[in-house]
Amino acid sequence: MNTKQIIDTTEDNCFHVYNRFDVVFDRGEGVKLYDTDGKEYLDFASGIGVTALGYNNKEFNDAIKAQVDKLYHISNLYYHPNLASASKALCDISGMDKAFFTNSGAEAVEGAIKTAKKYAFSKSGHNGYGIVAMENSFHGRTVGALSVTGTESYRNPFYPLMDKVTFAKFNDYASVEAAVDDDTCAIIIEPVQGEGGVTPADKDFLVKVRELSDKLDILLIFDEIQCGMGRTGDVYAYMGYGVKPDILLTAKALGGGLPIGAFLVTDKVAKNSLTPGDHGTTYGGNPLCCAAVNASIDLMSKNKLIENVNSLTPYLEEKLDEVVSKCHNAIAHRGKGFMQGLVIDDKVKVGDIVKKCLSEGLVVLSAGGNVLRLLPPLVITKEDIDKAIDIIVRVLQ
Ligand SMILES: *Cc1c(COP(=O)(O)O)cnc(C)c1O
Repeated sequence: MNTKQIIDTTEDNCFHVYNRFDVVFDRGEGVKLYDTDGKEYLDFASGIGVTALGYNNKEFNDAIKAQVDKLYHISNLYYHPNLASASKALCDISGMDKAFFTNSGAEAVEGAIKTAKKYAFSKSGHNGYGIVAMENSFHGRTVGALSVTGTESYRNPFYPLMDKVTFAKFNDYASVEAAVDDDTCAIIIEPVQGEGGVTPADKDFLVKVRELSDKLDILLIFDEIQCGMGRTGDVYAYMGYGVKPDILLTAKALGGGLPIGAFLVTDKVAKNSLTPGDHGTTYGGNPLCCAAVNASIDLMSKNKLIENVNSLTPYLEEKLDEVVSKCHNAIAHRGKGFMQGLVIDDKVKVGDIVKKCLSEGLVVLSAGGNVLRLLPPLVITKEDIDKAIDIIVRVLQ
């Protein structure tokens, strides 16, 4: 099939739920992507924060290939070596006590919601509990995850959703305090909001929400599906804030490109919530995806990816300052580590800028609030930053 036939066949056969860009990607190498015409692109999107190691990493690929020839699925009825090693590795790096592997981010959110509801149920002996979520949050597209996602236009066609969800203002402690009542079993927060506009939480806000959760024995859920796994310069963003959640959600970069997520809990939560029969998944934590988790975690430390994020973040932020001062359409930038957003003037559609960058050979993302979102692989160099910034400046001017 040629490029046009690929696009047409896809549109003829896939449910039209995405407005895809007019590009057909064929292969990747490091921080570069190549389309079917051989054109090269610099990737500052990582497939939405997933391919943190870049493309075609030999050690990662070898680990997966070796597992393919051994065993890729066995179900959760049995033990396998990779579930042992991946759960241990993930508990070790996350500082949490117990892991449940899922197949996606949304499924990790669903697991967290059920865990929190069961925790409250076990404690009080009755059901009927609700959740406090944040405005501008994004937690996924399944019905439970959508119920706690703070964008009304995403939710509206699908009402009634999960009952008893109250939205509070992100970074506004008083509004969280006002939203919490006797029926609240959990508060769910992205420490750095991604989809909603790349907005980091204030430390003081998280500290106070933690205190409130402790006082009322409400579970604090941090959705680090996008901001976790080294992206912000800490293994998990909560560590940089010094505020630990009761339930931690991870996915996107966890499998380095293979589909796997997890919800992680403290011992206190594990001992007082889900028990056998309460939850499950057929594929979650399969040998192949767990091999990917092991390789991702291994290579994150071996290749010093977090050190790279921390050493290059000041430079990236300095260059973004320059973009803001040079381009009148760029109003401000915000973010943490390699999760950065450029706020674009409302007169210009950020989608058009993303499209223009793509035609200039740079892959970037958009986010809510007219924000140009950068989620580069964690392996980028100073030269990659220079190239990306040059293209962004050219496009904005
Ligand atoms: C992407 C994302 C999700 C949903 O993950 P899926 O794998 O698409 O289901 C949930 N929360 C956050 C913060 C995300 O960025």
